[in-house]
Amino acid sequence: MLTEKAKKALACPYCCTAVTEEKEAYFCPSCSVRYPIIDGVPHMLEKKELAARTTEREEWRDAAIRPDISYDLLVKLKSPDVHVWPRERRTVRRLLAGCPEDALIVDVGAGALDLPKSVVRLDLGPYPGIDIVGDGQSLPFQESTVDLLLIFRVLEHMRNPELGVGEIFRVLKPGGRVAAIVPFMEPFHINPIDISRFTRDGVRHLFRDFEEERCEWCVGPSAALAWMMKEWIATVFPGSRNKWVYASVRELAGWFLSPLRIVDYFLRKKPYAHKIAESFFYLGRKVKDEV
Ligand SMILES: [Zn+2]
Repeated sequence: MLTEKAKKALACPYCCTAVTEEKEAYFCPSCSVRYPIIDGVPHMLEKKELAARTTEREEWRDAAIRPDISYDLLVKLKSPDVHVWPRERRTVRRLLAGCPEDALIVDVGAGALDLPKSVVRLDLGPYPGIDIVGDGQSLPFQESTVDLLLIFRVLEHMRNPELGVGEIFRVLKPGGRVAAIVPFMEPFHINPIDISRFTRDGVRHLFRDFEEERCEWCVGPSAALAWMMKEWIATVFPGSRNKWVYASVRELAGWFLSPLRIVDYFLRKKPYAHKIAESFFYLGRKVKDEV
């Protein structure tokens, strides 16, 4: 459910005008568009866009590289995710603690772990725990309303990540912060589409309008290697044209390879580790206008 503070900051995602709350919709007086509230969740996307994203999601579920077993079962059999940043929870906790009590905090793509209910979780689909259905490339918030925005493992899925980062700049308050996790050495993964990867320079370029506080690898080369290896083994394995064979071999290999991640712990001070790191953490601030 949306907090009152978040409701006040809501805007039409296309013209950025503040929307007014109606019984079962938010109304944009400028575009005369009604954004429906479905099961308590505002769907801040145009009808056509909403339909396109729903189709994309359904196609993703039916995709050939995912075996036809229920998603829940697949999750149980899956080998441990190698791309989890061990310090993520601690880092997010500190970021949240640094915000004022009435801060508006938004998680775009709902990728961050264990967030308190006060954080607004936005995603393209009405997944469990989502507060707003919306697109990171046209955020449904008014200008300069957000104190902290988290965007973890989302930019690679955007058709236009530059637009997404521009939107973050627009909605952040002057002095507001953005925290991003951006993958680099990571195999293709559809969720529901997978478009780009970024080097450390690429991340810096993407966030060039912000004042950088941190830009460093967070998941290292060994995690990247473990993920690449399990995909490689599954790809070369005889019979892996069959998606069942492919997925089973990949997950079995994953169980053996995931402990490789431990090696990353010892690479923190290696100056060249960023060249093949799995992903980067970026923390930046929207600079206050100088008077
Ligand atoms: Zn509008």
